[in-house]
Amino acid sequence: MDKKDMRICIVGGGPAGLSAGMYLEQKGYENYTILERLDRVGGKCWSPTYNGKRYEMGAIMGVPSYYAVHDVEEFCGITHDGPQLNRNYKNKDGKVIEPFEPKKNILKIPRLLKMKKQLKEFGELLETKYKGYDINGHRGVAEGRYDGFACTPEREPVSGVNPNLKDLALPFNEFCKKNGVELIQDVWIGPFTAFGYGYFDEIPAGYVIKYLDFQTTMNFVKVNLWTWENGTQYIWECLNDKLKNPARLNSNIEKVERKDGKVYVTVNGKVEEYDKIIVTAPLYIPGTRTDGMKGMVDYFDVRDDEMALFKKIDYERYDVQAVLTKPEDHPEISYYVFDNMVPERLGHLMVYYRRWKETVDQVITTYALRKHRNTNEIPYEKVRQQVQDDLKTMGNPASEVINEWSVYYFPHVFSADYADGWYDKVEAMQGKYDTYYAGEIMAFGDMDETAEYSRELVERFF
Ligand SMILES: Cc1cc2nc3c(=O)[nH]c(=O)nc-3n(C[C@H](O)[C@H](O)[C@H](O)COP(=O)(O)OP(=O)(O)OC[C@H]3O[C@@H](n4cnc5c(N)ncnc54)[C@H](O)[C@@H]3O)c2cc1C
Repeated sequence: MDKKDMRICIVGGGPAGLSAGMYLEQKGYENYTILERLDRVGGKCWSPTYNGKRYEMGAIMGVPSYYAVHDVEEFCGITHDGPQLNRNYKNKDGKVIEPFEPKKNILKIPRLLKMKKQLKEFGELLETKYKGYDINGHRGVAEGRYDGFACTPEREPVSGVNPNLKDLALPFNEFCKKNGVELIQDVWIGPFTAFGYGYFDEIPAGYVIKYLDFQTTMNFVKVNLWTWENGTQYIWECLNDKLKNPARLNSNIEKVERKDGKVYVTVNGKVEEYDKIIVTAPLYIPGTRTDGMKGMVDYFDVRDDEMALFKKIDYERYDVQAVLTKPEDHPEISYYVFDNMVPERLGHLMVYYRRWKETVDQVITTYALRKHRNTNEIPYEKVRQQVQDDLKTMGNPASEVINEWSVYYFPHVFSADYADGWYDKVEAMQGKYDTYYAGEIMAFGDMDETAEYSRELVERFF
């Protein structure tokens, strides 16, 4: 059989699965099938409509270095044409503050000056001591190597030895301390913790700086952001429409058996035969979820080595509410609440978004985390109420909640497993059972890193 005729099953019609389809197709593999569990594509890029406009329940923005998303835009003939975002800051009591403005913080001037100096030092450290840190995925990092494709539009292959990269396994706060740049956390925390990616005392630095590489962070600082008028889901809807084999929606995968060099997938009661399978859906979910989402280990003929590794995966409990306000209570802009981005304030409102600045009859979305590594999960209802109480404190009370979800978010492993080479062990299993692992866990939980990982997976193995 011609390799290009291989029958490839892709589990999941989110950014990772759909872009895997696109890159396969571009490489001449047209015999792929994308199975999506829900009745829509886009996964965590979910942009429902209210009053004639789309709002974001999931992904909101990108930056100019989103090269894989840009590939998709080009493939579809679309561009980032959405509203320009901007934001201000409030403290936990709802008072507007300007934390980075020296004139408004006379007492903080020494700290701000120090922070500025550390920011410069950090930029240099990343380029020198941590050369190779920003490559997509985590291959080789635990062994002090980098191996992948450069974070440039051309994505040329790069690899090398850099023992300092082992530091990326440290929790980010320890990583900063080790490098004498603790104050830069004040800048990184906004687009990290507020975006639901956990706290700096629990998440390995590798995740933080691969997503928030220096360039990306500066784009956030300067609010040099991409948005899409019809929402981020539109990118993936357009891609789905362009693909030769659009995703098959409402696919309930009951069983996957891998034997005799074939993959047998039972979908909606019928067995289908494939040669390879790419999994972009969750690999492992500790506990059960009310939305019925399962980990791959629950419906595959999972092998011991897969189970042993995937059991180490945890994820964030990140809650989003879409609320309406009375016109007079509508926030004039989006607000970040830094006070609430520390573990002691778990379950509080960290950020709330106003997407459409020219109208006050649109949706405001709120964001809160519900679990820290060292705590029990706070019950959903409690955080839901807490966030609404916080909105009142902020002076922007909700009149109605029109949409909400507690999303399976940012799968990751913790420092000990990261340092123990979790990623190299999983990478070594790629293809072993005619199975390839992609999606958020393999790189990072954002649209671009997942799409980029799919690009590289296709480049490396197909
Ligand atoms: C609130 C929020 C804000 C975010 N903000 C941003 C942002 O501003 N910028 C950014 O870049 N990213 C952002 N993200 C992250 C981004 O949306 C995700 O990282 C990205 O969607 C991951 O793509 P994926 O395909 O790996 O996973 P997903 O988007 O989760 O897609 C996985 C797909 O697999 C399907 N699936 C699951 N199980 C099965 C199964 N058993 N069978 C078949 N299909 C299955 C799911 O239904 C889903 O469609 C945000 C996410 C959220 C929730």
